[in-house]
Amino acid sequence: RLQKIPLEQHGLTRERILPCALKVTDTLQQGGFAAFIVGGAVRDLLLGKTPKDFDVATNATPEQVHALFRRSRIIGRRFRLVHVMCGADTIEVSTFRSNGLVTEDDDDRATDATGRIVRDNVFGNQEDDAERRDFTVNALYYDPASQEIWDYRGGVADIERKTLRMIGDPATRYREDPIRMLRAARFAAKLDFKIDEATRAPVAELADLLENVPPSRLFDEMLKLLLSGHALRGVHQLRAEGLHHGILPLLDTILAQPEGERFITAALHNTDLRVQAGKPVSPAFLFATLLWHELQSDYKARIAAGTKPAPALFEAMDAVLDRQRERLAVPRRLDGTMKEIWSMQARFEQRSGSRPYRLLPHPRFRAGYDFLLLRAQSGEVAQELGDWWTTFQDASEETRAAMLLPET
Ligand code: ATP
Ligand code: MG
Repeated sequence: RLQKIPLEQHGLTRERILPCALKVTDTLQQGGFAAFIVGGAVRDLLLGKTPKDFDVATNATPEQVHALFRRSRIIGRRFRLVHVMCGADTIEVSTFRSNGLVTEDDDDRATDATGRIVRDNVFGNQEDDAERRDFTVNALYYDPASQEIWDYRGGVADIERKTLRMIGDPATRYREDPIRMLRAARFAAKLDFKIDEATRAPVAELADLLENVPPSRLFDEMLKLLLSGHALRGVHQLRAEGLHHGILPLLDTILAQPEGERFITAALHNTDLRVQAGKPVSPAFLFATLLWHELQSDYKARIAAGTKPAPALFEAMDAVLDRQRERLAVPRRLDGTMKEIWSMQARFEQRSGSRPYRLLPHPRFRAGYDFLLLRAQSGEVAQELGDWWTTFQDASEETRAAMLLPET
């Protein structure tokens, strides 16, 4: 069933491949190995998009790849890969692997009680490698030497149909790796593809399997979705598929309130604009927005129970972050920034005496202020408060002094 699609049919010329990736495939081929550009890069180029990175697949083992490139190193334990560096670019080179047969006593290949693959390091041939990939559009191999696309699973036709289709039996593939459900939502949003009915159908029933995914992988995949440039569509897609329960349990509650819906929408829309304009986005800021309403309700409950505001806020921040970590591991290194953004919010309300001046030099002022603007945009605080800070931060000393509110 392999189709080798010639250049005349797909139009993807060798010049569109990153030079570093060409160097890798050329060197491997000269060394007598098979080597192809694979995965997201081929898909994105066929869609006229700029690939985020270029991955190479080869029949050379990681050791053989490493031996061919001076600037390379073998990484990973679960999947052993080689990173080849040229200049500032890194190309990820993976050896053809197979999905393998699921047998309990197989040393290199194991699944847990729910069918999830816990180890996956069996090398295979190129067809095996195509088979173990997730979607047909992600299983295309481009040979820069012949400029042919090797298509084992009808991926080129699915790109034309703008359809995301799982390779193999969808339910089985989700059980093997539940993260594929999130990937389906992510790619549908990012590529503006529809999910083929047979691929979509089992998700509702299997969504709970995300609980078996290590929280750190969930974070990585969720961050990819949030930074894809289509976070707004992605989060709505997650919700439509019922996948958010295991990730952001309170998303329903948040989106059910008009203010919460406006806040999340504004935050994700802003993020998408920044990503699309090539500007940096801070993951800490993003997760601070996604958890803001949960923090608010936790905080209010503590106040209602008689805790004083300052300790209530600190307890609430820890409680929310700890609860979140059980599901999706927001790395601890983001905690500090998130807490600073959150605890700064009350300080924006204080506009008399020396307090506004003391807030300005705060190292996270910009992030805190951007966060305040989102709250104003969603109607949580008065627009006037946001505007006040917009003026105050760039105003002359005289104007600033005149802007201060009287001490209460
Ligand atoms: P992106 O543009 O977001 O990087 P991508 O398709 O390159 O998209 P990656 O996560 O970089 O996605 O993975 C590279 C390739 O590895 C995919 O195209 C797919 O073929 C395969 N792959 C990645 N994750 C999985 C998975 N969980 N199950 C099966 N195949 C996967
Ligand atoms: Mg990729």
